[in-house]
Amino acid sequence: MTNLLILGGTYQARECAQTLLTHGFTVTSSLAGRVAEPRLPAGEVRIGGFGGPTGMAQWLHENRIAAVVDATHPFAERIGPSAVTACGSAGVPLVRLYRPGWQPEAGDRWHWVESLDAAARVTARLADRAFVTTGRQGLGAFTVLTRTWLLIRCVDSPAPPLPPHHRVILSRGPYEVADERALMLRHDIDALVTKDSGGSLTRGKLTAARELGLPVVIVSRPQRPETPSVASTAEAVQWITDHVSGGS
Ligand code: NAP
Repeated sequence: MTNLLILGGTYQARECAQTLLTHGFTVTSSLAGRVAEPRLPAGEVRIGGFGGPTGMAQWLHENRIAAVVDATHPFAERIGPSAVTACGSAGVPLVRLYRPGWQPEAGDRWHWVESLDAAARVTARLADRAFVTTGRQGLGAFTVLTRTWLLIRCVDSPAPPLPPHHRVILSRGPYEVADERALMLRHDIDALVTKDSGGSLTRGKLTAARELGLPVVIVSRPQRPETPSVASTAEAVQWITDHVSGGS
């Protein structure tokens, strides 16, 4: 039995768990516990923080983990460094399952910013009615928008502070281009605000914005620690197979 830990909370992590199980590994996926009703991956699941790198290292030891796949979201800033430290001290190989960022295409009007605060400033300048898809966390950055109305979409209800003029819609992707276009038209949206999350499941809003000629305020990714990285589940399986024994 070769026990693997996947740090998850993304569709890539779920896909990776399923694939590694079919290759004969014993897989535990770890979720932070932010979402009330998360989509659960196949295999074992544990939920909640480890208590920092020390707690994670102890958990790796107690559960005889042979390797860790960090498949967390590109904007999850703390878990990556925590995994590097924990795996280093526990002597467990770590690979990052990396999701490439989005690239603009002809006709796109993207405004790259470094933070949600910067996104709020640019949105104030660009938009009367913006569609905000940056997630439930950090919406307090948009409280400075006293003039712009925001359509905020997230999976679970966001906690205050929230911007003065807004409506929240709760939903979970994937989203089709036609539906995204219809939503933006229905709400008379004149700008889209997003993180550079990457992936295909939520890319439809970017295509819809391009088709409608709308500007996009896009938050660039935070730095991640240098770790061995792969860009697909197939490469992750190969990396695991090369670095531990017990799978196929
Ligand atoms: P974060 O800032 O990197 O993590 C904060 C703390 O939450 C970590 O220090 C860790 O607690 C715990 N944690 C995070 N991911 C965990 C995991 N997979 N398993 C167990 N504990 C975890 O992350 P975040 O931005 O709050 O995101 C939380 C989770 O949501 C991530 O797993 C991520 O994949 C998913 N997610 C995030 C976003 C986003 O935009 N940030 C979007 C979609 C999904 P301890 O220090 O106690 O171990």
